[in-house]
Amino acid sequence: MNSRGMTLMRGVADVVFPPACVHCRAIVETSPIDQPVEAERGFRHLCIRCAAQLEFVRPPHCSTCGHPFYGVVEGERMCVKCEGLDPAFRQGWTAVLFKGPARSLVIELKYHRGLHVLADMREVFRRSTALMEQVRGAYLVPVPLHARKSRERGYNQALLLANALAAAAGEETRVQPLLRRVVDTPTQTAFDRRTRMANLKNAFALAPGPALNPALHYILVDDVFTTGSTLNSCARALRRAGALSLDVVTFGHG
Ligand SMILES: [Zn+2]
Ligand SMILES: [Zn+2]
Repeated sequence: MNSRGMTLMRGVADVVFPPACVHCRAIVETSPIDQPVEAERGFRHLCIRCAAQLEFVRPPHCSTCGHPFYGVVEGERMCVKCEGLDPAFRQGWTAVLFKGPARSLVIELKYHRGLHVLADMREVFRRSTALMEQVRGAYLVPVPLHARKSRERGYNQALLLANALAAAAGEETRVQPLLRRVVDTPTQTAFDRRTRMANLKNAFALAPGPALNPALHYILVDDVFTTGSTLNSCARALRRAGALSLDVVTFGHG
């Protein structure tokens, strides 16, 4: 079906099932179907009021996790939360703060099989200009799920987000799922930091497939930056495999 046909179909679907905002459940007003370009560029699952509440991260921010510094910052590059992390990656960026509507988008994607919100998440990335500058031309490596969890959920949200990020960045940005999760780590929240670190040690290994090329720029992609320990374990696995230029991008910072 051509794009005009797709737009028409979607227009019909929107009349029958008007899209509801994933955050406040209000009906999302979309542009008329004779203005497909504008409709493509807006949010389809966040109403105008909730979209306005998205807190985009602007510089200055922590060089490791991307959390914004408020007010004037001189010389300080890493936030207090990242001080104990000893990052194996160079820098980290995050698009938005993990709260309000951004949190609702992630929850819809991750726990409600809401793959339709990926279009809105791509739009969030597209509007994160500083982050997008880092991503262009890079190879995006999603944080893998263990095979068991991936089967349960039916998809890996980090891989889908990496695809959305690549689509927002343009065709010279590629997705390469280089890692696999070899240890089925228990739910992280049930453990203290030390136990979590021990669980994550050697939890990741190279996946079968194309080899890592040390000359390329790799960016690990995940949905949320919390403690950074999972991302750091992935970064260590890529470093062991020879990655030299390695950064991190997350959708939200929580
Ligand atoms: Zn709303
Ligand atoms: Zn930080």
